Amino acid sequence: MDFLSRKARAILPYTAGEQLRDRAYIKLNTNENPYPPSPRVAEVLARTEADGLRRYPRPDAGLLRAAVARHEGVLPENVFCGNGSDEVLALSFPAFFDGEGAGACFADLTYSFYEVFAAFFGIPKKIVTLKADFSLDLAAMRAADCQGYYIANPNAPTGVGIGRAEMEAFVASVPQKIVIADEAYMDFFGESLAPLTKKYPNLLVVKTFSKSYSLAGMRCGYAVGDAALIAGLFRMKDCFNSYPVDAVCEAVCAAALEDEAYHTETVARVVSERERLRGELLNMGFTVPKSGANFLFAGRGARSGKEIYTKLKEAGILVRFWDKPVLRDFCRITVGSPAENDALIKQLHSILL
Ligand SMILES: *Cc1c(COP(=O)(O)O)cnc(C)c1O
Repeated sequence: MDFLSRKARAILPYTAGEQLRDRAYIKLNTNENPYPPSPRVAEVLARTEADGLRRYPRPDAGLLRAAVARHEGVLPENVFCGNGSDEVLALSFPAFFDGEGAGACFADLTYSFYEVFAAFFGIPKKIVTLKADFSLDLAAMRAADCQGYYIANPNAPTGVGIGRAEMEAFVASVPQKIVIADEAYMDFFGESLAPLTKKYPNLLVVKTFSKSYSLAGMRCGYAVGDAALIAGLFRMKDCFNSYPVDAVCEAVCAAALEDEAYHTETVARVVSERERLRGELLNMGFTVPKSGANFLFAGRGARSGKEIYTKLKEAGILVRFWDKPVLRDFCRITVGSPAENDALIKQLHSILL
C-alpha cells in the first residue's frame, strides 16, 4: 500500500547543498558567510529568557517588521517576514500566480527552487534561456506570455548582476505583470530595487538574513513591496503557519539589521576577497563571469566541474556542482575567509598540474 499522494510521488524536490559532518571541511558550497554574525546577536541570545518562550510569537513578526521597514525606508505595511526567504518565495507563488494562468517566467539557469515551487503549486512555467555571456535576456522575458517574473539578482549560480537602471526599465515596461526580484545576494552588489517598490506596485523585492548577515541557521527572510502585495503574502501565510518567525529569530534579526557598521564591514571584506579570488581563478585559466554575489561560477574547459568538485572534496574542500547541461562545466565556489580561499587556490593549483 502506497499512502503517498500522486503529487508527493511525482514531484522532484529541491536538492540543497551538502551539509556533511563526517570530517572538517572548508565549506565553500552553500554561500554561507565566512564571518560570524554581528556581536549584537550573541548579546540578544544571552539576554533571551526561556520563560518568554511560553508565549506564541507575534503572528506578523511586528518587531522585526518595524526594524526592516526602518532599514528599507518603507512602512511596516510594506514588509512581510518569513522562515527564510525560501518560504517568502514559496508563498509568493500561490499569492500571485494562477494554476490556469499564463505562468511564472524565469531563466533556464537560475535558482532551482523556482521550478520546484511552480511544480508544487501547479503553476505553469515559462523558461527563458540566458544569453551566451550568462546575462539575462530581458527582451525575451518582456515578450514572454506570463503572469509575472522571478529574477534572482544577482543571479544564482552565475553571480551575474543587473544594474538598478536596467531593472527599473524592465519593471516599468511590464506594469500588468508582477516582478519578484530575489535579492538574496544584493548586498554584495549594491543595486537593490527596494526603494523603487514605492513607485512600482508590480514590484516585490525579496531579501534574506542568510547570506550577508551570516544568519543562515536562523532561517529568516523578508519581502518589501506595495501594501496590497504584502497583504497577499499574509493571506497565504495564514493558510499555512500563523507564526513562521519565532520570538528568538525576530530579536536576533532585528539586532543584526541595526548593526549597520558591522554589516558594511563584513560585506566589504567578502567583496574584496571575491575580487582577489576571481583574479587568481582567471590566472589559472578558469572562465569566471564577473560576480555581484558572494560566490564565483568557475569553469575550466576540458576539466569538468565534476572532476574539480570531486578532487576538492577529497582534499576536504566542498564546492557546489550540478550534473546538468551547461552547469556541469562549472563549479560554484563560495567566497570564504582569506585563509580558506588560500587553501582553495593551493588545492586548485595541484589539481590542475
Ligand atoms: C540562498 C538563497 C535564497 C534563500 O535563502 P534562505 O536561507 O531561505 O533565506 C533565496 N534565493 C536565492 C537565489 C538564494 O541563493
